[in-house]
Formats: sequence, C-alpha cells, structure tokens
Amino acid sequence: MDANSWNIDQSEELYALKRWGTPYFSINSQGHLTVSPQGERGGTIDLYQLIQALKGRGLGLPILLRFPDILQDRIERLNSAFARAIAKYNYAGVYRGVFPIKVNQQRHLIEGLVDYGKPHNFGLEAGSKPELLIALSAIDSREPLIICNGYKDHDYMETAILASRLGKQVILVLEQLDEVCLAVKTAKELGIPPTFGFRVKLSQKGQGHWGNSTGERAKFGLSIGDLVQAVQILKQNQMLDSLRLLHFHIGSQISSISVIKGALREAGRLYTELIKMGAPMGYLDVGGGLAVDYDGSKSNFYASKNYNMQNYANDVVAEIHDACHLAQVAPPTLISESGRALASHQSLLVFDILGQSKVEEAPIPPAQEGESHLIATLREIYEGVTLGNAQESFHDIVQYREEAISAFQLGILSLEERALADTIYWQTCLKLHHLLGPHAENDDYETLDKLLATTYYINLSVFQSAPDSWALDQLFPIVPLHRLDTRPTEKVTLADLTCDSDGKIDKFIDLKEDNSPLLQVHPLEYGPQTHFYTSNQGFKTAERLSHRPYYLGIFLLGAYQETMGNLHNLFGDTNAVHIKLTPHGYQIQHVVRGDTMGKVLSYFQYNPEDLLERMRQQCEEALTNQDITLEMSQKLLNNFSHSLNSYTYLS
Ligand SMILES: *Cc1c(COP(=O)(O)O)cnc(C)c1O
Repeated sequence: MDANSWNIDQSEELYALKRWGTPYFSINSQGHLTVSPQGERGGTIDLYQLIQALKGRGLGLPILLRFPDILQDRIERLNSAFARAIAKYNYAGVYRGVFPIKVNQQRHLIEGLVDYGKPHNFGLEAGSKPELLIALSAIDSREPLIICNGYKDHDYMETAILASRLGKQVILVLEQLDEVCLAVKTAKELGIPPTFGFRVKLSQKGQGHWGNSTGERAKFGLSIGDLVQAVQILKQNQMLDSLRLLHFHIGSQISSISVIKGALREAGRLYTELIKMGAPMGYLDVGGGLAVDYDGSKSNFYASKNYNMQNYANDVVAEIHDACHLAQVAPPTLISESGRALASHQSLLVFDILGQSKVEEAPIPPAQEGESHLIATLREIYEGVTLGNAQESFHDIVQYREEAISAFQLGILSLEERALADTIYWQTCLKLHHLLGPHAENDDYETLDKLLATTYYINLSVFQSAPDSWALDQLFPIVPLHRLDTRPTEKVTLADLTCDSDGKIDKFIDLKEDNSPLLQVHPLEYGPQTHFYTSNQGFKTAERLSHRPYYLGIFLLGAYQETMGNLHNLFGDTNAVHIKLTPHGYQIQHVVRGDTMGKVLSYFQYNPEDLLERMRQQCEEALTNQDITLEMSQKLLNNFSHSLNSYTYLS
C-alpha cells in the first residue's frame, strides 16, 4: 500500500463526510478538516489550525467546539423549509417553531437561539419546572410561543398562567386528566383566562430506540377516551374557549417518513373533530422527531432518515392542509418542536490519542529441550500456514490455544509455556492476516481484522461526552482532523480513559453494513528517539504521548449528549469554546472552562480544602516518623494541590 496514492476525495468518501456533514464540513488542500459554519454563505475555518490556536491559549483537549452560526443556519433552514411548503400548498396558516429546551439547556445556546429565532418568531418548549424558568426569562417578546409540557403541579401552572400577563404567549399543554382539573382550578383562582393545549396519545407508534415511548400505552398524553372527557370538563367549566392547541410527540429520531405521515393523518382528524366539538383551536403542534442522518445512509436505519427537512415540512403542511380542507375548517398555525435537527450539528468534540496497543511481528523463541507436546503442535501450525490451508490453520490455532489455557489451568503448562503459547497464537494470526490480505472478502479475514485491530487510547470519557454511544449504541461520525490527504492504513477501535470496559467506541458509521466495528485512521507517527516496548506476544506500545499529536473529532454531538453525560470515574465537563465567524476570520466568543478535579470532587460532597489538610497532616506524621523527607512531602503536597485546580483529563 502506497501511502501517497490517496487523495482528499477518497477521505471524503471513506468518512461519508458529504453525506452527513454538508454544508458544514469539508477537507481543504492541506488535508485538514474544515468547518463552514454558515454553509455556502460564509467563511471557512481550518479545524486543525483552530485546535493549535486554542492550545496556544492554554486550553487542553478534549475541547468541545460550538459554532453558533451553525445553529442560526439550522433555524434558517427549518423556517425556509416550512415557508416553501406553505407556499407550495397554498396553506392559509403560518409556521411557528419552538425549541425543546431539554435537547440542550446551555445558556449561550438558548440565548443564541432566541436571538436568531426572532425574525421567525421562534419560541421555546419547556418540559419541566426549571426549563419553564429558562423559557419565561429568555423570551421577552409577544410573538414567540412558550409551550409548557411535562408533569405539572399547581406552582408550575400558576407561574405559566401569570406569565401570560406579561404579554407572553404561554400555552399550557395538559397531558393527564387530573392536570386538566388542576389547570381549570388554578386558572379560576387567578381569574386569568388561560390558553390550553391537549397532548394526545396517537395510535401511530414511533420506531427505533424511542418507539416504546409512544403509542397507546405511552407515558404521556391523553388517550382518545380521556380527550373526549377532557373536552367535557372544560365545557362544564365554561372554559372550552381556552382550548387552542393539539399536540402529539411520537418520539425522537423518527427514521421513516411513513411513520410521520401516519401520525399527521391521525392528528389532522383529531384536530378537526375538536373544532366540531366546539373548541376554537388554532394551533397544531407536531412535536419532535425530525431526524438527523448520523451515518449519511439516507435510509430508515435508526442512525439515519429516509427523508430530508423539506420532505418533512411538505408532509406536515400537506397532510394538515388536506385534513382541514376536507373538514372545511380553518388551517391551524403549525408548530414543530424540532430539537435534534436544530442542535446536533453545532457542536463537535475534538480529542487526542494517548497511545496505542498493536500486535506486530515478533520472533518466536526457539524450541527448548523437553518442550511440551502442546507447544510443539502450536509451532507446527505456525510453520505450516499457507494460503491453501488458511481456514484449517486458523481453526487449529484457536483450538490448540484454548487447550493451552486449560492445560495451564490444570497445572500441566508453566506460566512461561502459557505465555509462549500466546505468542505463537498471535504470530500465527498475524501471518494468516498477511496471507489473506489480498483476498479480503474472506470471512476469516474479517474475523482476524477485528481480532488484530489496534486499540487507540483516547483522551475522553464516552460516559461524559457521548453517552448515547454507550447507552443506546447511537452512531456518531468520527473523523481525523488532519492527514486526510494520506491513506489511513490503520484499523482501530477506540478505548476511553475510564476503567470501565464499556468505555469504548467499537461501532462506527459504515455505508455498506449497518455499522463497522473498526475505524480507519492514520498510524501514529513517532520521532526517531521514541522508546518502544514490545511484549513477547508481539504487543507493541510506545511511551505515552511520544507520537506527534493526532486529533480526531466526534461530530453531531449537540443534541442530548451534554446533559446526559455523567461523571463516571470522575471525568468532568470538558472545556468548551464558542466560535463565531467574523468578516476576516473567526472570534472566540466564550470559553467555558471544563471542570477541575476540585470541582468534580465537590459534586460528591468532598471539600478540596479538607482533602488537602488531611494530606498535610499525614505528611507531618510521616515526617515525624522520618518516613519521608521534607522535600518529598512538599512535592507530594504541591502535586496534590495543583491537581485539585487542574483539568480531569490527561495533558
Ligand atoms: C424530546 C422532545 C422533543 C424533541 O424531539 P427531537 O426529536 O429532538 O426533535 C420534542 N417534544 C417533546 C414533547 C419532547 O419530549
């Protein structure tokens, strides 16, 4: 394989960059990944150079990069898609989107969103009491909607209804019958005419990971029976004229457009029936679900979607248009609560590789006098490998190695012999892999590929930064930030910093299969002075971080990942920077420093000062006993106190 016979177009294809990254991510002539936060309309930033610039400012990896311009671009796209659909179908209503806060609650993001959304009267959706507080304070104008979902108590309802007196359009969406009663009571007490919506459980089921959260037994929403009863309750209380909105949410990341259409058809019927029952209505809220094409396959696979934003907007508008036309009722203002589709693209996490574990060719020590028969058999298999008997040899070496393990267990093989059996096993696998290489379609080759895959140790915690990759097998695109003009000859899995065996990434986007267990990347580059360690088995490692820095990015992380992340092994929030395009380049708008060790420890009720004081006392005792020198104890205490103020990741 000639490392030079490779170009950036091949990289673009390998990483499906155009398929999931258009119009934001591309590769420049230097082989660096670039971001164009305003799509085709604005400038381009070289991500590799950006990382150098951030490191120059003392910011360590991993770093979360947020591009508010991308968020703005997504808002523009969504609103344009609905504007086009409304024009296409001569729809007599308007679109008023809201952003569901739970998708990403970061203050800078929400503030940016409200700001960029102003030309479109874009609003917010709250799903809990704290999110309501964000929504009410963030929106200070009359037009954008504030949709109140989630479990509600008296306080929640009172606050929402009172806030409507500030001239805000607050819609209280009622999801259970008891909420309907409580809302009626609360509004009466206050003497303020409220605006109500009903959330309904559709019979249309979602699919994929979140499919179970919808359908008739879904956690949220009024059943059809409840809906009729809820209308009656409002009627009895002379409040039916408060009912203005119908809402449904069939789940997130709906990959198939037919599922969305089914839901819309049902909702359209319900909407017109509610009008016939005497409710004024006016709004139809189609919830979230607008999917993101994480793997670029444009299919109904769960990490993808078989439609685009325009198809989605067209179907929402067309289905509701038809339902209203048929029933001779005025078409509603359309609301969508698209979270993932707006927030995913705006952030990516850049991380570096700490080191690797790789199987390499190593000499097999010569046979010793009186060597066990088992070892001799393993040697014979190794010596006798040919292309013709590859399958048989592979089978044999696996079987005899297992026997060697049993023989060790039974006390027949010594530890040295057991290690030798491993060496021969790995070296045979390697030999077979080389032999089968030119015949790559072979099944054994694929098994060997996985078996012999290099592990790259990565400087991040999957649990903190990409929790859905661990919890839901969600696929996120991962791409090197540089060297994209050279052939990525290494096939790897990624192992994270945590001590948890689930702390790894071994499923990558792949257009041919659903996903691939291996990621193609570049070999680490070592300087001439590097000290390598090769174990007898042929596992080769080098001094940690002795290679030239190698940066990877994990993309489309902006939805759900930041809040769902956890502190497993006490790896805290990463550094985050907000980068805005300017006419002449870019500007670092905000730097949100990641957690220090002291901060993370304080989340668990440890007081950093106490910890340091305890260490100091232990040092004093050791000094008294002359177990440690003063110099050593000072060094220990300095390290301890420095750590408390440092980043939780490796530097
Ligand atoms: C989570 C949620 C959303 C967001 O869904 P996306 O698929 O991310 O757009 C919208 N509405 C409700 C009620 C939700 O619970």
